[in-house]
Parts: sequence; C-alpha cells; structure tokens
Amino acid sequence: MINLLDLEPAALAQFFAGRGEKPFRALQVSRWLHQRFVDDIEAMTDLARPLRAALAADTLIGAPRVLRDTTAPDGTRKWLLDAGHGNAVETVFIPEDDRGTLCISSQAGCALDCAFCATGRQGFNRNLDTAEIVGQLWLANRTLLADGVRAPWVDAGRAPITNVVMMGMGEPLANFDRVVPALRLFLDDHAYGLSRRRVTLSTSGLVPWIDRLAAECPVALAVSLHAPDDELRNRLVPINRRHPLAELMAACRRYLEHAPRDFVTFEYVMLDGVNDQPRHAAALVALVREVPCKLNLIPFNPFPGTAFRVSPRPRIEAFARTLQDAGIVATIRRTRGGDIDAACGQLAGQVHDRTRHRLAARNAPAEAH
Ligand code: SAH
Ligand code: SF4
Repeated sequence: MINLLDLEPAALAQFFAGRGEKPFRALQVSRWLHQRFVDDIEAMTDLARPLRAALAADTLIGAPRVLRDTTAPDGTRKWLLDAGHGNAVETVFIPEDDRGTLCISSQAGCALDCAFCATGRQGFNRNLDTAEIVGQLWLANRTLLADGVRAPWVDAGRAPITNVVMMGMGEPLANFDRVVPALRLFLDDHAYGLSRRRVTLSTSGLVPWIDRLAAECPVALAVSLHAPDDELRNRLVPINRRHPLAELMAACRRYLEHAPRDFVTFEYVMLDGVNDQPRHAAALVALVREVPCKLNLIPFNPFPGTAFRVSPRPRIEAFARTLQDAGIVATIRRTRGGDIDAACGQLAGQVHDRTRHRLAARNAPAEAH
C-alpha cells in the first residue's frame, strides 16, 4: 500500500504517469489531499469512478494517530502522536494575531544529546517518514477546520496554518531525505502553498547538510547557537566538536547566498549562570557580526531531572539590550502553552515516559489518569 501523504509533488506526478494517467490527475489529488484534507479517495469526486476504485485498492491516506489532544488557555494546542514502537512525538499549534504557526517534529528522540534538551535525553528512537511529517500539518489543518477554529488571519474555509517551524522533536537535518520532500509539499502551490519565508527549519548545526539544504530547498534557516565560543558550545551542543563555530558561521554565510535578502535566526537558550553573562553577550556580538541575522533568546524551559535553571528575567533583558545596542535585532521568545508543556523547543517534556504511563493506564483501566 502506498501512503499518498508520503509522495512529494514529483513523486505524485510519477505515480500517476506510471499508471498512464494525465499529469493533471496528480494536481487534482494533491489539492484534495493537501488543501481540502480529505482522508477518503471516494471524496475525490472529480476523479472518474474506475480511477477512484483503483486508487482505493492500492493506496491509503494515513496520518499519525492522535494519542492526546490538549489546548492551553492561550489557545496553544498540542497533539501527542503515535510514532510506532511505543514512541510518541508532539505537534504544537500556536495561534497569534496575524498568523497560525505549527511546530513540527522530525524524529522520535534525537541522537545529538544537547545538554539542556529533554528530547536529547530520550536518545534516538527513529526517523519519522515523510507521511508522518506532512501528516502533522495535514492533521492540524484538518482538525482545526473541522472544529471551526476561528482564524482571523485567513478566509473562512482556508487552511488555518500559515507558518511552519521544524522546531519540534528531533534534528531535521539528520533526517534530511524524509524532511526535504515534506518541505517541498509545504511550499508547493498545489499542496500547502506556503512561501519559503514562512517555513523555517531549525538545526543544531550539521554543516554539510546545511549546504545540501541550500542547494535543494532553501527555506528560512534557524541555527541553535546557545554559546558564543567553542569551549562552552562543545559542552552544551556536542555536535560542535565535529562542526565548530567558525565552520558553522561560514555555512550560514554560504546559506544566505542561496537566500538573498534573507537572514539566519540564531536561537540562544538562556541558562542561568551558564551562558547569560555580559562577557557572553559581548562575545556573541563579535561572533555574529559577519552574518545577517536575528537573535531569538529562548528562556530555558526546565524539565524534571535537569540541573539547568532559566536565567532571571532582568538578566535576559540585559542580554538582549547588549545585542540591540550593537545593532543586532534580538527578541525574547514569549513562552506559550507552558501549562501543557507545549512551549516550542520544549516539546519532549516527558513524552516517552508519558506514553508509557498512558499505555500502562490503558492496560489497567482502573488507574485514573
Ligand atoms: N534539533 C533542532 C530543532 C529542534 S529544538 C535544533 O536543535 O535546533 C528547537 C529549539 O529549542 C532549539 O533551539 C533547541 O536548542 C531549543 N531547546 C531545546 N530544549 C530546550 C529547553 N529545555 N528550553 C528551551 N529551549 C530548548
Ligand atoms: Fe536534538 Fe535539537 Fe534537542 Fe539538540 S536541541 S538534542 S539537536 S532536538
């Protein structure tokens, strides 16, 4: 069985060509799938009946199964999704005044083991496939539309999600071959039709893959910096030992050659007493000077068992001011959906543990949860 959500635009075209169908069939099906979010071939009423029957026989439309669906008072909504083999990943919808953003996961767990990250603590479980990545956007749009969620930033009946950030669980560039086809669907006019500035991929700094992304699908790039020097970054973001800062900064500059007029967003998690001192801010100014960029300061989101604490608010503000005084655009990320552990970047929470609890709860129905 072919999962239609697995097929990027070229693959869908090839699929229909292989069956002797006209190319526009692929476009019709793409619109049913990715603009009207149908989950049933029979609903594709502009396809001839025999074609529908043939498709129903050997394809399926399969998004991940929802294990849990939670909405915070600020409207942030989190879906916990089954990723097979006892794994779960999260997708988070963040409504704002002028946009609806979906934070998408690319892997169950992560191998890169950043010191302050709950996903890293789980270790690597598995790469999501393209259908599971695209399925997150498909599912969120479909569910929000079906629920009649008011989206003042789009016309009624249109997909409520206008922006995608690959900032959920996992390192998207470590799952390049499944992530890029998903990105292509996000950008395709006959699928989600998002502009390349509205699709952001966040990486901890896999340099060779940053170059490949530039060549194959240059969406907006965010880079998790978190430290202004190699000594500290080696400890916080261990991949830095393989791709140190000088190499990473050069890769960012090369990336921007493919994305003229753009900038890189540097993410910097604020860790009390670790990377938040005036000397770190000064070193950061010097480091990013050569790269057109914005700085996004992320208050650390604590999780059980971590020794890190979030920097006090005044220190984060002072840090931001140092950057701004040097002419760098720096913002402090607003914490959203904190009460459902859905603040972006802190998706993992204890997903794995929680999944286990849920499974345990299901096996023992008397247990309250
Ligand atoms: N693996 C990619 C994308 C997912 S993480 C990356 O590392 O960039 C998205 C962002 O959240 C990254 O900047 C990551 O460093 C940050 N993050 C991870 N754990 C966090 C935590 N506990 N509090 C705040 N930000 C965190
Ligand atoms: Fe992986 Fe990103 Fe977490 Fe690092 S911060 S462990 S790269 S998900």
